[in-house]
Amino acid sequence: MDPNTERMVQILNKIDDVLHCQRCDLKLSRTNVVVGSGPLDAKIMLIGEAPGRSEDKKGMPFVGSAGRILDKLLEEGGIDRKDVYVTNVVKCRPPENRTPLDYEIEACHPYLQKQMEVITPKCAVLLGRTAAEAILGRSVEMGREHGMVIEKGGIRYMITYHPAALIYKRTLKDIIAEDFKKISALSGG
Ligand code: URA
Ligand code: SF4
Repeated sequence: MDPNTERMVQILNKIDDVLHCQRCDLKLSRTNVVVGSGPLDAKIMLIGEAPGRSEDKKGMPFVGSAGRILDKLLEEGGIDRKDVYVTNVVKCRPPENRTPLDYEIEACHPYLQKQMEVITPKCAVLLGRTAAEAILGRSVEMGREHGMVIEKGGIRYMITYHPAALIYKRTLKDIIAEDFKKISALSGG
């Protein structure tokens, strides 16, 4: 485990034994708890939905096909992934990659909440409708709201499509790329 992850695990262990967490039934489908990656003083935080197969195997977020797309989008937006904190609304892989249930998102929320307090990002990017709705606590219409800046509880959020949406819908590429080009300015340069 890299030092940043180790430090974050220590912090989250004050809530519960995160790497062996039993707070919801996603404990049954996971191999590894995927806490997050990146520096704890990151200005930008990216929040996805849930670990997929590669992430579950490696214990790291966005390291599979969606991760490769994410890396490219960040690069095109002038952002180095190494400078960004990346995590998900649930830390364990759901069976067959299904969407996490509300109760699972709620059970996992104290960890995400703590991560946000520790990192205090200038900008938190919500990747996809599941992450956006979970964090904003309301329904989100991606077609209308992507790329918009939303202030809530002293944090500046931007909603955009989930990188995996590009796998199924290539026509979204330019739209998502434009959103990612705004992130750097939102994070204060
Ligand atoms: N999709 C996500 O939402 N998160 C990951 O970590 C990987 C794929
Ligand atoms: Fe615990 Fe979150 Fe995993 Fe559920 S998803 S078992 S709350 S770490």
